[in-house]
Amino acid sequence: MKCLLNCRGLAAALVCSLALSTAAAQSPKLPPIPPAAVAAIEKLTSHAGVRQALAFIRDDDERTLREQIELTEIPSPPFKEAVRAADYLERFKALGLSDARLDAEGNVIATRKGSGGGPTLVVSAHLDTVFPEGTDVKVRVTDKRYAAPGIGDDGRGLAAILSVIRGLNEAQLRTVGDIIFMGTVGEEELGDLRGVKAFFRENRSIDGFISIDGIDIGRIVNSATGSRRYRILYTGPGGHSFQAFGQPSAAHALGRAIAKISEVRPPAQPKTTFTVGTLKGGTSVNSIAAEAELGLDMRSDDAAELAKLERQILQLARDAADDENRRWGRKDAKEMVKVEFKLVGDRPAGTGSPDSPMLGVARQAIAAVGGEVKSVASSSTDSNQAISLGIPALTLGGGGDGGGAHGPDEWYSPLDAWLGPQHHLLALLALVGLEGVTQPLLLKRGH
Ligand SMILES: [Zn+2]
Repeated sequence: MKCLLNCRGLAAALVCSLALSTAAAQSPKLPPIPPAAVAAIEKLTSHAGVRQALAFIRDDDERTLREQIELTEIPSPPFKEAVRAADYLERFKALGLSDARLDAEGNVIATRKGSGGGPTLVVSAHLDTVFPEGTDVKVRVTDKRYAAPGIGDDGRGLAAILSVIRGLNEAQLRTVGDIIFMGTVGEEELGDLRGVKAFFRENRSIDGFISIDGIDIGRIVNSATGSRRYRILYTGPGGHSFQAFGQPSAAHALGRAIAKISEVRPPAQPKTTFTVGTLKGGTSVNSIAAEAELGLDMRSDDAAELAKLERQILQLARDAADDENRRWGRKDAKEMVKVEFKLVGDRPAGTGSPDSPMLGVARQAIAAVGGEVKSVASSSTDSNQAISLGIPALTLGGGGDGGGAHGPDEWYSPLDAWLGPQHHLLALLALVGLEGVTQPLLLKRGH
């Protein structure tokens, strides 16, 4: 279904609007696309201005890749996204988004106003990477492969948004609803979605949220895998391994905890998982450990299952300390091992409906550019926060091909890369409405 491969510009949009029904029919077990979404995308793809924008995005492909490389080469480690954010802010301003600004958390935000009375849609990508300060982020090019940490995740998303804005501007497309374009901080790891969490604390009147994260346009994320992460710390009296033998050990308590935790059997559906990811502690080989700590990660696609798993595992961690104290017959608090819990990660879970209007629009938009929906899945992205607040949200791929995300060998290939921003443009137009052409399909929520 790569119908844009050998055709360019206006012809591409035309040919691809014919590909709609076949591509949609190949989707994984999903309900039919709502007729309103089909009709809206059809109207949009036969509108001259929209075709102009789609053709422009195709021709904008090289510049978009160049920007992706430039953005990738600005280091953006966790909690240190400020330099890349300042650069992204300037790019928004240069595209005429006059209210572009940084919020208190460090997110880059700009609004493209609609004609009024419509819904407000956020379209966002994340500024941060998982890579620590000092990581070499210079892009290496071999055989049309571009390799650098963060080039796809989420250099591609950031660049795709810029191309979408240029497409809208170039064809002077006026939407009904407002679109807030955003670059978020703190999406990865211990950033714990701090950017998007802060945004939703400050902005209550949001009707829909799209995150452009990852590459593959055939993979739509409509559900939020939630996670809870803890540092679990055991502390005890410690002492000499020979002279103080008989004192409970923080390391032994931790071992008991892992033995218990590893026997937990969470449900396969909704997928619910756990792992003890890190361990540290002890003083020396000939000391009874006074301190030992583990890092625990728990995830689920379902909020209730996640809460249940958490209660169960934290209780097992307490039982482990009790067992260790009992083993040595300790009753005096000063001589006992204690356990403390520190929550270090909290990403809310939530399930998106397979027949949501937003998902229908995205599926139809992907088909319209000649793509194919291969999976509708659950993941942990900026959309988690929106989904947990009951705001319709999706995470869409930025276009192209790539792999190795979160590793030093991450790579990107701009294979049909423009299909990313093309389908984003169609989806957002259908959602917020194009003045005089389509009504918004995104409902205004009772804020
Ligand atoms: Zn990402």
